[in-house]
Amino acid sequence: MTGEAKSQNISWHSGQVTVGDRERLLKQRGCTIWLTGLSGSGKSTIAVETEKQLVNSGHAAYVLDGDNVRQGLNKDLGFSPQDRTENIRRIAEVAKLMTDAGLIVLTAFISPYRADREAAREIFTDGKFFEAYVDTSLETCEARDPKGLYVKARSGDIPEFTGISAPYEVPNDPELIVKTENLVVDESAEQLLSFIRSCGFLAG
Ligand code: ADP
Repeated sequence: MTGEAKSQNISWHSGQVTVGDRERLLKQRGCTIWLTGLSGSGKSTIAVETEKQLVNSGHAAYVLDGDNVRQGLNKDLGFSPQDRTENIRRIAEVAKLMTDAGLIVLTAFISPYRADREAAREIFTDGKFFEAYVDTSLETCEARDPKGLYVKARSGDIPEFTGISAPYEVPNDPELIVKTENLVVDESAEQLLSFIRSCGFLAG
C-alpha cells in the first residue's frame, strides 16, 4: 500500500496568511484542473497553451507535467500499477499545496486509473479540483505519436504502455471533456480557458 502515514504526533501548522489573503493578492482563486487522457491526446499541449494565455492576461498559473515530475520528485517511480498510483498521489498533494498558494494549476498526466483520479480528488477541498478529459481516440494519438512512443510500444520496447499494453479507464463524470480531433490547439485551449472563466476563478 502506498502513501501510508508512517509518522505519528504530526499536526498541521497554520500560518497567519490565509488562502483568502493570497487570493486577494493574486486577484484570482486557486484551483487544479486535472487533465487526463491517453499519451498524445494533447494534455501537455493544451496545458502549456492555457498557462501561457493565463499568464499573458495577468494570472498566476503553473503546469505540472508528467515527464518533468518524473525527472525529480518522482524519479524513483516506474509504470507498474502501484508506482502509477503513488505518482498520482504525490502529484495531487503538490497540486493541492499550489492551489492553496492561490495558483491555477494545470496537471498533465495520463492518470489512467479511475480510482487514482478519485483519490486525487479526495485530497482537495470541494470545488477546487476539476477533472478534464482530453478525449482523443487511440487511433489519432497513435497517428500523432509526438514522442515516437507508440512505435516503441507496438514493437515491445516499452512495456505497460497505456492504451497498448496497459489499460486506460475513461472518466465517468468529468467536469469538462475536450474532444481534440476536429480542433486546432488554440481551440482546445480556449475550451479550457472558458471553463476556468465560467467557474469564476479569474476574479479576485
Ligand atoms: P500528451 O501530453 O497528452 O501526451 P502532447 O500534448 O504531448 O500529448 O501531444 C499532443 C500532440 O497532438 C501535439 O503534437 C499537438 O500539437 C497535437 N495536437 C493536434 N491537435 C491538437 C488539439 N486540438 N489539441 C491538443 N493537441 C493537438
